[in-house]
Amino acid sequence: MAATAAAAAAGAEVHVIEALDEIGGNSVWSTGYMAFVNSRAQQEAGIEDSVDAFISDAEASIDLLRDHYPVITDPGLLRLFAQHSAETYDILVGRGVRFSRFIPRPLQHRTTRMLAVEDMMGFRRAFEPEFSRPNVRLFTRTIADRLVSEDGRVTGLVARGADGGTLRWNVRKGVVLASGGYQSNPELRARHVPGYLARAPYLGIDTCRGDAHLMAGAIGADLINMGLVLPLVIVSSSFVEDCIAVNRDGRRFHDEAGPYERRVEALQAQPDRCAFYIVDDETRQAKAQLLAQMPEPPVSAPDLGRLAVTIGVDPGELQTSVAEWNEFLAGTSDKDSRFGRVVLPGGRRQIVKPPFHAVPMVVGSNFVSGGMRVNDALQVMDVFGDPIAGLYTAGDAAGGFNPTAELGGMRLSGGFTLGRLAGEAAAEGRSGHVREGTAPKGAHMPSMIGSRIALQDVRD
Ligand SMILES: Cc1cc2nc3c(=O)[nH]c(=O)nc-3n(C[C@H](O)[C@H](O)[C@H](O)COP(=O)(O)OP(=O)(O)OC[C@H]3O[C@@H](n4cnc5c(N)ncnc54)[C@H](O)[C@@H]3O)c2cc1C
Repeated sequence: MAATAAAAAAGAEVHVIEALDEIGGNSVWSTGYMAFVNSRAQQEAGIEDSVDAFISDAEASIDLLRDHYPVITDPGLLRLFAQHSAETYDILVGRGVRFSRFIPRPLQHRTTRMLAVEDMMGFRRAFEPEFSRPNVRLFTRTIADRLVSEDGRVTGLVARGADGGTLRWNVRKGVVLASGGYQSNPELRARHVPGYLARAPYLGIDTCRGDAHLMAGAIGADLINMGLVLPLVIVSSSFVEDCIAVNRDGRRFHDEAGPYERRVEALQAQPDRCAFYIVDDETRQAKAQLLAQMPEPPVSAPDLGRLAVTIGVDPGELQTSVAEWNEFLAGTSDKDSRFGRVVLPGGRRQIVKPPFHAVPMVVGSNFVSGGMRVNDALQVMDVFGDPIAGLYTAGDAAGGFNPTAELGGMRLSGGFTLGRLAGEAAAEGRSGHVREGTAPKGAHMPSMIGSRIALQDVRD
C-alpha cells in the first residue's frame, strides 16, 4: 500500500498484484501497535526521542537474539527507518488513521514511542483511493510466480491470474516485492527451523508463503535471517491488556506483556508447559474478534472456582491471583510489583464480571524475519553483494530490518516507512550503494586468505 502510493505519486505507472480479494495484507489483521521515532504525537506529549536513542534500543534488543540466532542486521536500515518514520505517522494521520494512545514498553522501547491504532481496517481505507488513480491498476486474486531477468536486471514478471491463466509484464523501472513473509508455509519454515516451530500456529493471512523469497532467490537474491522465526505466545497484545496468565497452580508466573521471548521461556518453564489466560465476560465481549483468533477455544464457567476445576487449576490460588490483580488495578501504581508489568491508564479493566474464561496459552509464530538483503535504496542484493537492478523490497520480505520485531510495533511502521521509500526508489529506478562488510564475499575474502597465510607462517 505504501509502495503503491509513493510510486504512483512519483508518476510511475503502477500495476499491483495481490493474491487475495482485497488490499491490506496482515496490517488489517494486526493488533495495530506502531512505533515511530520523533513523531508529532511524541512532541505533543512532551516526549523526547532521537534517531540515536532508537538505534541504541534496537541494538540492545537485537543483541539479546544473538545468543540464540545468527542474526544479520543492517544499521543503515535502522537509521533510514528512524529518520523517516515520523513522516509515516503524519502520512497515516493525514489519511485518516487514528491513534488512541501510547503503549509504554520500557524494557524494549526505553523512550515511549509506540502508539495503538484505533481501527486496523483504517489502513485499508486510508490507501484505497490510491488504487483508483489513473496510473494504478490492481490485479486481485492474482499470484506472482516468477521474475524474469536479463543481464542481472529484472525485466519482467509472470503471474497466475484469477482465471488460472498466465499473465506477463514487461517491467520498465522496477518490481517491489511487498509480499510479506513465509509464516504460512510450513515446508519453507521447516527448511530453516526445527519441526515444532515450522508447524507452530500463525494467526494472519494464508498467502504469506514466501513466494517472493523463492522468486528472488531463483535469480540470485541474498536471503538472510531465514532461521529467525521468533516463537511467541500467540495472543494479541491488545487482548493481553485485560488478562492475567496463571499456571496449573493457579498462580501468575510472568509479566504477561513482557518481551516475547521471555513470555515463551516463562511458559515453557511451567509444569506440563501449561498455562491459561484468564479474562472476565466484559473482556470477552469487548474483544470477541481477538478471542476468536486464538489457536485454542476458551473454556468458560459461571465463577472462578468452577473455572479452575474445569481447567485443572488450583481453585483457591486462582481466586487469590485474580483478587490480587484486581486490587493492584484498583490502586494508582502503573507497575505491578510482582513481575514489573506496566498497566496503562486506559487498560485498567478488572477481572470481575461472570462468566469467566480461560484460554490455553500456545506457542506459535507471527513474525518470521528472513528476507532479502537490501541496500539503502531498498534494492535487493545478490549473494555476491551486488544490487539486482530493477528489484526492490520492503516489509516482512526484507531481511535486514526485521530482527527489530522484538521491540514491538516495528513491523507495521517498518513496512509503511521502508515500503514508501522502496516505492519512490522503484519509480525512479534508483540504484543504492553497496554497504561494505554486509556480503559474505568481497571484503571478507582477503582477510580469510590473510589468516590462512598467518596460520601457515605459524606452522612453518
Ligand atoms: C495477529 C497479528 C498481529 C500483529 N500485530 C502487529 C502489531 O501490533 N504491530 C506490528 O508492527 N506488526 C504486527 N503484526 C505484523 C504485521 O501485521 C506484518 O508484519 C505486516 O503487515 C507486514 O506487512 P507486509 O506488507 O510486509 O506484508 P503483509 O501484510 O503480510 O502483506 C503481504 C501481501 O502480499 C500478498 N502476497 C503474498 N504472496 C503473493 C504472491 N505470490 N502474489 C501476489 N500477492 C502475494 C498477500 O496476499 C498480502 O496481501 C501482526 C501480525 C499478525 C499476524
